[in-house]
Amino acid sequence: MTTDKTNAQREDAEDMPYDRADRNRCPLCGGPNGCAIEAGKPAESCWCMRATIEKNVLASVPLPLQGRACICPACAAGGK
Ligand SMILES: [Zn+2]
Repeated sequence: MTTDKTNAQREDAEDMPYDRADRNRCPLCGGPNGCAIEAGKPAESCWCMRATIEKNVLASVPLPLQGRACICPACAAGGK
């Protein structure tokens, strides 16, 4: 069906709102998030593995970026 194709293309376009070059940046403040994975290090060594991030902080990340972009330690701590 042609509608399937159209849907797939639209999803592809919406799947890439976030440039790969920006993945090491915090979506909240634009600063470096210090993500170990993006730096090519093991995920276990990332600061976020030991940090507790408040739900309301996570909720303030723009929807398209939720689950994609890592926030920085300062924003994770809720400090502003
Ligand atoms: Zn931040």
